[in-house]
Amino acid sequence: MTEVEGKSCIAIVGGGLVGALAACFLAKRGHQVVVYEYRSDIRMEKSCGQSINLALSFRGREALKAIGLENILVKCHGTCMRGRMLHDKDGNLKEVLYDSVKGNCIYSINRRYLNVVLLDAAEKYPQVQLNFNRKLVEADLEKGKIKFLNTNTGATEDAEADLIIGADGAHSTVRKIMARRPLFNCAQTYIEHGYVELSVPCKEHNKFAMSGNNLHIWPRGEFMMTSLPNEDYTFTGNLFAPFCVFEKLKTREALLSFYIEHFPDLLRLIGEEKLVEQFFEKEPQTLISIKCKPYHVGKTTVIVGDAAHAMVPFYAQGMNTGFEDILMLDELMERYDSNFAKILPKFSELRCDNGHAICDLAMYNYTEMRDLVTKKSFLFRKFLDKVLFTLVPNFWIPLYFAVQFTRMSFRECIAHKEWQDKVLRMGLFYLAFLIFAVLAIPFLRNGM
Ligand code: FAD
Repeated sequence: MTEVEGKSCIAIVGGGLVGALAACFLAKRGHQVVVYEYRSDIRMEKSCGQSINLALSFRGREALKAIGLENILVKCHGTCMRGRMLHDKDGNLKEVLYDSVKGNCIYSINRRYLNVVLLDAAEKYPQVQLNFNRKLVEADLEKGKIKFLNTNTGATEDAEADLIIGADGAHSTVRKIMARRPLFNCAQTYIEHGYVELSVPCKEHNKFAMSGNNLHIWPRGEFMMTSLPNEDYTFTGNLFAPFCVFEKLKTREALLSFYIEHFPDLLRLIGEEKLVEQFFEKEPQTLISIKCKPYHVGKTTVIVGDAAHAMVPFYAQGMNTGFEDILMLDELMERYDSNFAKILPKFSELRCDNGHAICDLAMYNYTEMRDLVTKKSFLFRKFLDKVLFTLVPNFWIPLYFAVQFTRMSFRECIAHKEWQDKVLRMGLFYLAFLIFAVLAIPFLRNGM
């Protein structure tokens, strides 16, 4: 690859969603970009037929908009989800809109399709080179030296770059190499819950089996099922449950009686044979959350996306936050004229604590989705949020709205929610006091 004057050579490790997006942004700025991806080119593989989908929201959309891909992805291939549809055991439904005031929705989008579009878009820039079947095995991060295993030939290959971007996912090798350095903090947490993915077929040709504009949830306290609509009228569902529950579901009989007891409506939609076949196809997958600090090494290395802040999927923010990382890096490139010595420390300063905050929010949302959504106190709080948001929309922004439909920093989202809790507690206290005082006056008068 020929060098362009004043422009840097950037190596991106990982050609997943965030790495491919980063390639587009950096090439747009004129940098020379080489992407090294462990897997083979997914565009050459036949689609496995299953639609594994993700919820795309404002932060992710803003990033796609900046490289001109929002329209094709969201408007043409996204399925709008306007709220949660809660299913109780008797099959009763309750819709809770995400935004009953402004009508915002989040979009379900096929993961593979999104990755293909991003890789195609990156490859359209002449200064982008995509190298598949390259696994990063070692690096000298300060010197910008990297070593790959070519999984086609078995040979190792060396490369050099002015900047290394680690977009190599939750089990990032770049992050593991950073962890050998002093003053790098990293904590990983596997939650005691896992998930199994299940597909819900369409009802008949071109018809959804349930409402196609909702994210469906079957909250059952300790565990839950969710499902997101696909463009082909199917749904992709997940059973999220503690591993001790999965341990009890080892036979066909146990699985069917579990679904008859907890998710009878879903069982009817999936069908017994299909459920058994899909459920036992794979072991339950684990869920990991990563908090680390800083996200950079000097002026030569930075980690983004899941490599920096893998999170449990319950706020549907993993990819969205990763996309926002790239948007933020791009904003810093603009501010500091692509001076990495200034950009990378600033990125860590702005992003690390927010990365930790969204990891915490994602953990919290699991409890909300599987349990709190059925509680009266939670629904009352949602009602108050809705009333206040309608009356003073710039002043009272509900937490979910702030996370999904704004670019408010995640720390601010939490701080705002804590302030709201305090205001409501005080408000309810004074209201209770007032009611008590009004009721007590006649007694005091009679007593006098
Ligand atoms: P990845 O997608 O993991 O990509 C990393 C890439 O790096 C891979 O292609 C990998 O092959 C490559 N790689 C790894 N190691 C090496 C190496 N040593 N050398 C070279 N290449 C390497 N997020 C949302 O925003 N919305 C959702 O609705 C949502 N739903 C989810 C549901 C589930 C069940 C799960 C598990 C996650 C969900 N997420 C969601 C999170 C989302 O999937 C991730 O945040 C997103 O995929 C992160 O993208 P990434 O590019 O950082 O990492």
